[in-house]
Amino acid sequence: MEIVENYSLKKLNTFGVDVSVRFYVELKNENDINELLENQEFKKEKKLFLGGGSNILFTKEFDGWIAKISTKGNRVIEENEKEVLVESSAGEKWNDFVTYCVEKGFYGVENLSLIPGTVGAAPIQNIGAYGAELKDVFESLEGIIIQTGEKKSFNKKECQFDYRNSIFKKKYKDDFLITKVTFRLNKEKKFNFNYRAFQSYLKPGDQNKLTLREVSELVKKIRRDKLPNPQKYGNAGSFFKNPEVDADKIHELQESFADLVHFKVENDKYKISAGWLIEKCGFRGKNIGKVGTYKKQALVIINFGDATGDEIKKFSESIQKAVLNKFGVNLTPEVNIY
Ligand code: FAD
Ligand code: NAP
Repeated sequence: MEIVENYSLKKLNTFGVDVSVRFYVELKNENDINELLENQEFKKEKKLFLGGGSNILFTKEFDGWIAKISTKGNRVIEENEKEVLVESSAGEKWNDFVTYCVEKGFYGVENLSLIPGTVGAAPIQNIGAYGAELKDVFESLEGIIIQTGEKKSFNKKECQFDYRNSIFKKKYKDDFLITKVTFRLNKEKKFNFNYRAFQSYLKPGDQNKLTLREVSELVKKIRRDKLPNPQKYGNAGSFFKNPEVDADKIHELQESFADLVHFKVENDKYKISAGWLIEKCGFRGKNIGKVGTYKKQALVIINFGDATGDEIKKFSESIQKAVLNKFGVNLTPEVNIY
């Protein structure tokens, strides 16, 4: 394990923000992880474990240690005629894991095709897209409590999964290293086409005809048509969560905004489209200096040049302020800000 001093993180975060970290290491296997956790200097200092850097905004130099998780491997640990348990290492790219499942004929993660980042980070915000969430296929995970070095496993209930949330964003925030995740996948054909975006892409009869590979490719196409490629435009996906409100708030808003885009989550709990709120405040495709929102989806903040993390954060705050003034709704960042 090589320790590099004053390392630039520009290529390690999809916003492309150019900040440095005082000590950088890449963890390629279990030995590297053990060696780092036993390092006395590392124990004392501020620290952060990094995956693909696709859900993170660095607003200043990182005065401590950053360890990038690059451990690799997918393996079947149990199977029967109907289901299979696959264990995947935290450093696997999420989309490589999806490709592995598609090639093996394992159903359940195809709607989550092409989400950037790593397997290890996926449970942290219970990644979701096109009507599917990680929790739908999650079995368990393993990792290490950073403060104590204690190994710990979590089953689904213990992870406290919620909309873009889990125990790893609360009690264990920045204090638990996820090393392996196990998924329960279907061997029998079963697709979920309920999400609205599928309607304009599916032809009559497609639902019964399509193969697993074709569904995964379809999801990739839908994503590429609507969402920016981080290699071209620096971004971290949706900057904010969709806010959740009660029925009274929905009725109040509908009196002034009849076209309010919202979805019922459960009794008396509704999710409002954050992209719609931002767009209605005039921010869709708007730039301030080198920062702006994507022209096809106002929820995605873009670094159009060499913006600093602080400039991106200030821009996000101007969006929050505008949405609060116009709708009385608070937007909470989904992106992890450091
Ligand atoms: P990072 O950004 O590296 O880290 C995020 C947080 O997790 C940090 O706090 C970090 O310390 C922590 N972390 C990372 N790995 C570990 C680990 N092994 N153990 C403990 N902590 C760890 N998200 C969705 O949910 N749905 C989408 O459809 C989606 N689309 C996106 C599209 C684009 C273009 C982009 C840029 C992002 C998108 N995202 C989406 C957000 C992002 O891809 C996910 O949140 C992803 O899971 C982040 O993974 P990462 O490895 O890049 O995490
Ligand atoms: P979209 O289809 O334009 O939809 C806009 C919003 O409406 C989404 O946030 C979505 O919530 C919600 N929505 C749409 N149909 C819904 C339904 N039937 N039930 C409940 N909620 C519904 O979104 P998009 O921007 O093109 O993104 C497509 C998918 O990829 C979405 O699922 C989105 O979450 C995901 N995505 C996530 C990120 C990220 O960084 N988190 C980035 C890009 C895309 P949900 O977000 O809950 O689905």
